[in-house]
Amino acid sequence: MTHSETLFEQAQKYIPGGVNSPVRAFRGVGGTPIFFKHAEGAYLYDEDGKRYIDYIGSWGPMILGHSDKRIKDALHAQVDLGVGYGAPTSIETDMARKVCELVPSIDLVRMVNSGTEATMSAIRLARGFTGRDKIVKFEGCYHGHADSLLVKAGSGALTLGVPNSPGVPACLAELTLTLDFNDIEGVRKIFKEMGDEIAAIIVEPVAGNMNCIPPVPGFLEGLREVCDEYGSVLIFDEVMSGFRVSLGGAQGLYGVTPDLTALGKVIGGGLPVGAFGGKREIMEHIAPLGPVYQAGTLSGNPLAMSAGLATLNAISEPGFHDRLTEKTVALREGLKAAADAAGIPMAVQGAGAMFGFFFTEEASITSFDQVMACDVERFMKFFQGMLKEGIYLAPSAFEAGFTSAALSDQDIADTIAAASKVFATL
Ligand code: PLP
Repeated sequence: MTHSETLFEQAQKYIPGGVNSPVRAFRGVGGTPIFFKHAEGAYLYDEDGKRYIDYIGSWGPMILGHSDKRIKDALHAQVDLGVGYGAPTSIETDMARKVCELVPSIDLVRMVNSGTEATMSAIRLARGFTGRDKIVKFEGCYHGHADSLLVKAGSGALTLGVPNSPGVPACLAELTLTLDFNDIEGVRKIFKEMGDEIAAIIVEPVAGNMNCIPPVPGFLEGLREVCDEYGSVLIFDEVMSGFRVSLGGAQGLYGVTPDLTALGKVIGGGLPVGAFGGKREIMEHIAPLGPVYQAGTLSGNPLAMSAGLATLNAISEPGFHDRLTEKTVALREGLKAAADAAGIPMAVQGAGAMFGFFFTEEASITSFDQVMACDVERFMKFFQGMLKEGIYLAPSAFEAGFTSAALSDQDIADTIAAASKVFATL
């Protein structure tokens, strides 16, 4: 028995399923989860002393790699000053200024503690601002686990086959209209029927919770047009894509401006942080300026702000995203070439430092239905093979992969060599 297996047995005695977030339980790939002891740069080290090249990066935040000195220094300095006061600090303003600079659609920003809080609060704000109750989301997109958003959701919900969770009141779920990602005609149709009842469209501009699906040309632009026509709020959930697909997120990459943006992951540098922000006239409806209530004991926590701000400063260095995108493209191309050489049909796609691969005969994947038709059994075998080779991929066929600046060319070459070996066994 490995040390990880022993630890998992103990964890299950006290923690539901042994994990604090379902996808970590490896139910989507079989076997037992790996328990990690430490991480440095591009590598994770498990409790049995094995090293892995990491393509999860704590599910997105670790864009610099693990244990980056700049983040550690910022954290140590703040620990010496106190870990939290529940009162305003100058670092919150520094953080807000930086976010507004990097994401020009954001005039005002409120910090929260997770991506879930960010999207949940943005939805409440959109409803309060418009005086409407209905929202539109897309099947397979995941926006955290708030009730209104856990309807036909992606990520762990999709991995475990429970995209509609028991416990979400039917009367609330009815207000969430779920459409097909990348299908703008479906969106126009529903708005024609009931556009004046719809408070907001929320979308992952690059869908990363049903593997990785970039928007087809015209989709995001179409959402913008529809929201303008019907007075609905366009919310980009950039919890995953923000600061990752480009410095300005997906809205920077594709040139479409939302009304509100939800942020998370990279913005906290590995600490529990989220944020939502956008147009001044909408954000001014948030308490204490306006009547839409939103609050948090630990929101804007100085320790979290110091890690987040140090991360945003580091990724603002000229050329950071170009270099990271180049590495990610090298990985994508290498995986595809290795699959082709082994005669394994596979599509590989991505945006910036996000990537996804699908076991499919299709040249590219643009819809939820296509994702569901991919060969999940083959993914599971591939995942387990790669794990043996010391490559740590997301333990689900429905999650995007993430690269970090700490990955060397050699790490990428080693990953592709490992994939060639595993492809030969599939
Ligand atoms: N939105 C998106 C696009 C996400 O990928 C996630 C988490 O994976 C969330 C929201 C929820 O964020 P959190 O897990 O921090 O609550």
